[in-house]
Amino acid sequence: MYYFDHSATTPLHPKVKELMGDVGEFHFGNPSSVHASGQKAKTLIETARGQMAKAIGCNSNEVIFTGGGTEANNLVLWNLIHQKKKHVITSVIEHPAVLNVLDSLEEFGVTYSAVGVDKTGMVNPDDVQNALTEKTGLISIMLANNEMGTIQTISEIEAIAKKHDIIMHSDAVQTLGKIPVNAKELGVDCMSFSAHKFYGPKGVGVLFVRKGLKLKPLIIGGNQERRMRAGTENTPGIAGLGLAAELATKNLHNTQSHLDGLADTFKAQITHICPDVIFNGHPEKQLPGLINVSFPGFRNDLLMIHLDRQGIAVSSGSACSSGDIKPSLILSAMGIKDEINNSTLRISFGTGNSQQDVEYLTKCIKSTLERIRSAA
Ligand code: PLP
Repeated sequence: MYYFDHSATTPLHPKVKELMGDVGEFHFGNPSSVHASGQKAKTLIETARGQMAKAIGCNSNEVIFTGGGTEANNLVLWNLIHQKKKHVITSVIEHPAVLNVLDSLEEFGVTYSAVGVDKTGMVNPDDVQNALTEKTGLISIMLANNEMGTIQTISEIEAIAKKHDIIMHSDAVQTLGKIPVNAKELGVDCMSFSAHKFYGPKGVGVLFVRKGLKLKPLIIGGNQERRMRAGTENTPGIAGLGLAAELATKNLHNTQSHLDGLADTFKAQITHICPDVIFNGHPEKQLPGLINVSFPGFRNDLLMIHLDRQGIAVSSGSACSSGDIKPSLILSAMGIKDEINNSTLRISFGTGNSQQDVEYLTKCIKSTLERIRSAA
């Protein structure tokens, strides 16, 4: 299979897979148990916490393990029901793991304003400033978007939050291992991550919670995770996440050049094959290896079916809305007309892809376009 859908999920790194197998087999003790087996499991969890903290530039005690990126977002957002200030500023291009949660919170008195984006997918910090009310208790803006990869100017938005004493959260699920992410430098209060986006396991994530900020748990029970997330820890998953975070950030520079190289080749070749393609997103502030490209006149569902038959995995829009042929809300928010919107593919390269893979991809796209054109 030729896999170009790394923004949806990534394969497990072989070293992560090996570690998780070992942990599951040999270190299955309950981390809360006092005996040696339990304490070994506890040590593994604390090692992973240290690895994650190093990867995102924070202290170990600021890392809370969760059951994934969705849960990390929920943990922050559900806290609004306990806050006095129940208004949230977010953006129209957030993942459903933010926007749908906010919709659900409305019955608990939470309101929100979703600011728009420009044609490159960028939030204007002035719009955030203008959306402030006396009741604003949280600003939640993603660090980078999962569909077209635009990287937001989070520090500028965070400065607005700080000035008005508002909690700042950022969904950074798409970023680790692709761009430098430093919690201290960004200045945010909370940030969400998900291991399966950086060659770690599914169903495990992290919420960075700045020291001093106390969140009420979403999942209530024992005293795990500083009482912010109860339940016996997923030791193999957490150990896998820790190692994956270390590996993903260790050779970040090389990964970036590799992904940029693949994207540059793809763009050059595809423009040659189909000169009227449109690349969506920001020209510079863009996740490496993520290409959102429209093929005017061609339906993306047809393109995907043809490519799938040739063993190629790409996506149209985010994985969460695939199977749904409605135009992407993200691209609509950027002002892209439905016809172009519905001709768009997301191609996301990963560390395992090669230049030969890109050649195969462009060759298959070329023959697919020809076949569709001749059948019309
Ligand atoms: N936030 C963003 C930006 C995502 O891309 C995703 C996954 O697609 C999530 C949150 C949800 O993360 P998870 O799959 O770990 O629940």
